[in-house]
Amino acid sequence: MPNTNASIHSLVSQYVQPLASYNAGLSLEELKKRYNVTKVAKLASNENPFGTSAAVAKVLNDAGNLAYYPDPNCSELRQLLGQKFNVDPQTLVFGNGSEDIISVLCRVFLEAGDNVLTIVPSFGLHILYPQSCGANVLIAEMSDTLEFDIEKIVQQLQTHQPKLFFIASPSNPVGTALSQAEIETILDALTDQTLLIFDEAYYEYAQTDANYPNVQQILEQSGKPYVLLRTLSKAYSLAGLRIGYGICSEPSIAGYIDKVRTPFNVNRIAQKAAIAALNDATHIEKTLTWNDQARQTLSEQLNELGIQPAKSLGNFLFFKTDYPAIELAQKLLKHGVIVKPWLEAGYEHYLRVSIGSQDENEHFLSALKTILNA
Ligand SMILES: *Cc1c(COP(=O)(O)O)cnc(C)c1O
Repeated sequence: MPNTNASIHSLVSQYVQPLASYNAGLSLEELKKRYNVTKVAKLASNENPFGTSAAVAKVLNDAGNLAYYPDPNCSELRQLLGQKFNVDPQTLVFGNGSEDIISVLCRVFLEAGDNVLTIVPSFGLHILYPQSCGANVLIAEMSDTLEFDIEKIVQQLQTHQPKLFFIASPSNPVGTALSQAEIETILDALTDQTLLIFDEAYYEYAQTDANYPNVQQILEQSGKPYVLLRTLSKAYSLAGLRIGYGICSEPSIAGYIDKVRTPFNVNRIAQKAAIAALNDATHIEKTLTWNDQARQTLSEQLNELGIQPAKSLGNFLFFKTDYPAIELAQKLLKHGVIVKPWLEAGYEHYLRVSIGSQDENEHFLSALKTILNA
């Protein structure tokens, strides 16, 4: 093992030194090796159980010449999304996953000591990236029943006027979503000192709920500045390729993001695959239909075990048991099941499980039953 030079620590940014590590979970390969299991249910990262679609597989096969850098502007994809969502293509931004855009947004807007507001339980990067820039992260915790606490959010926005406000709806990890009225209340509370970062990573999944609001339209009509984040990692099955996008309220926001991001942040294959995925109606329809049905089934099966998952519009369920989540997750690993134990203070008895294939969901449920009955 190479030595670590003690002086390295003193060179690291004072904001980076105390950061927690991102809880990314085990990869399939690691799990198989470490636990000597052959059959694995990978239910920790909200990936699409249908895997790579035929349309995307074709793009991968025909990758062509990779000696050339990719188009730094994602022009073709930009055009397609501009049309699809009826927005000025110059308001679109692209990233190596939407997490890349979150990181760039922090570097564009934040200076040490700035306030940022987000929700707990949280998508970890809404906290980690601002902290890495020296920002002070304020929290509007969800209610005991795992609903967004709108009053608390409004109060924090008005009292602290944070520079950035990160909110994921549908929430990751909880799955619950803001209503139109709630979004409007939040927008009304925003002063011109705050940029809203609305993370809609589960946008496609949420479309199957008749009551899910048209977030893009509500934001557009508000006249407030925002970045609406989306990803192709979840419903579109492209997590392994890394591509996400954002719709900004104005081209100037996109312009600043473009100055700070790495110029070739979206690779050549990801750009082509995204276009193929977005044009593949069959794969997404199959995905959404399955998710709706399987989430309902799994939710009822958990109810039979005395477990009440939160209402979810995403491709996952979040629930509490009597056991420390870390321990339960560890036991599930031995059965070849990967889930995500929650680590945030106050939520250490919560787990998030992704909706997998029929096989994976049954594998998870039977392992859980075995463990809980032991
Ligand atoms: C999965 C997820 C992302 C990250 O998506 P990538 O595009 O893969 O980086 C961002 N936000 C939320 C809330 C997510 O759940």
